[in-house]
Amino acid sequence: MPRTVLPDARSSPRFAGIATFCRYPRLDDVAPENRPLDWCVFGVPHDAGVTYRPGARFGPRAVRDASQYVKRYHLEHAVDVCDRLSIADAGDAPVSPYDQRGTIDRVAAWAAALADPATRLFAVGGDHSIAAANLRAVWQRLGRPAPGLALVHFDAHLDTVDEVWGEKWGHASPFIRMIEEGVIDPAAMVSVGIRGPLNNAADLQFASTRGVRIIPCADVHAQGVAPLAAALAPLRGRPVYVTFDIDVLDPAFAPGTGTPCPGGLTTHQAFSLLRALRGLDIRGGDVVEVLPDRDAAGSTALAAAHVMFEVLALDAASR
Ligand code: MN
Ligand code: MN
Repeated sequence: MPRTVLPDARSSPRFAGIATFCRYPRLDDVAPENRPLDWCVFGVPHDAGVTYRPGARFGPRAVRDASQYVKRYHLEHAVDVCDRLSIADAGDAPVSPYDQRGTIDRVAAWAAALADPATRLFAVGGDHSIAAANLRAVWQRLGRPAPGLALVHFDAHLDTVDEVWGEKWGHASPFIRMIEEGVIDPAAMVSVGIRGPLNNAADLQFASTRGVRIIPCADVHAQGVAPLAAALAPLRGRPVYVTFDIDVLDPAFAPGTGTPCPGGLTTHQAFSLLRALRGLDIRGGDVVEVLPDRDAAGSTALAAAHVMFEVLALDAASR
């Protein structure tokens, strides 16, 4: 029996019915024999943390819609994700668009109590500030391990700015906050896909003084997955969180995002990097910064849906 029961696409077409992520069952509809759940996927429709173009609050709906055609068998890992894992869509987290800090705290508390204690959490944003909420929830559910979670961070941007316009919880700051809280161990944090221009050279200072490993996008273009693979040694055998800002992709592949940056990855390059994470103990993740209003052909939301599937497949392949 599959652990995640999907509607039969031959009697219930992929374009029909109420859209859940990848057609996974709603949390309330999961049969007792498929508990405890391995993963809950949930939306965080919140974009009060953006510094440039808003609209990522509509991301979860767009990703649910785009994910209807994501199938179950991962070809490259040779694993049927739905046979191996019990996955549910837990709906959307409670947000308050006028309250940035309060939303992070509220989403973190909601996610910390979700489903079964061992269930791993995958959040679909929303802007990147919501990663702080899911990171905190994952860390709490694991018993607040010291010195914090390992983090693989896909992004054009560092997201370790101390504050913007007096706000310390916006989408430029989730990782400085989580390092301060002890949720992330900076010595086990890798940021991949980073590219300029930056505001100034000091932007790099926080990461470099705390031991964050930065893999510039240019290194991926020159050397493929090798720089990331070589940086994973400190992450092995530890709980790992994967955070994926869709703007790590080039705007040609992912135009629907709020702070686009040219010179980025192709979707193929990003999937190759994600597949290189096989063997890590992935306990949580997110995909963020999908802005449907700028997503002319839906390619950004579709890429995000596949990023979610790639992360779930990594866990399925390791069990
Ligand atoms: Mn970014
Ligand atoms: Mn980001």
